[in-house]
Amino acid sequence: MPLNVNLRHLEAHSLKLEGELSLAELDIQTLDEVIRLKLPLRYQLEVEKTEGGLLVSGKLALPITCDCVRCLETFDYQVVLDPWVLDLPFEGEEAVVVNNDCVDLTPYLREDILLGFPQHPLCDPECGGLLAGPEGKGRRAESANASPGSESAWAELNKLKF
Ligand SMILES: [Zn+2]
Repeated sequence: MPLNVNLRHLEAHSLKLEGELSLAELDIQTLDEVIRLKLPLRYQLEVEKTEGGLLVSGKLALPITCDCVRCLETFDYQVVLDPWVLDLPFEGEEAVVVNNDCVDLTPYLREDILLGFPQHPLCDPECGGLLAGPEGKGRRAESANASPGSESAWAELNKLKF
């Protein structure tokens, strides 16, 4: 179900909406191959009818899977917009599209959640990447770095330990 709000239901009082928007409905095209979507977007919203439009407020959360751009490690990330506030006027250039008394909020969710995507996903702000020294992400650096140089560095370290 797309996220539709029936304006007639808003005449008397505001509306609380809570649920999930499937990926098929959300239909986000991530050109960025380091970001993958698997789970639906969760929303918790309150919609009010104001003088000249709709006021939507609440929060959005979308779990995504990213590849760290430095070390290529896959990690889970949560795009959260909280608070998310949306002002939808009935008139003017930015006027909202009303269809049979209904407004589809889906395009707005799609547009705004995309803005919350990490530009350069990092597993950790301090991630040293593939070239991290032995004191960094040790095991991973070892397996990812097949160059003889780093292997001997590890051998040196092991000698120190024992
Ligand atoms: Zn990383």
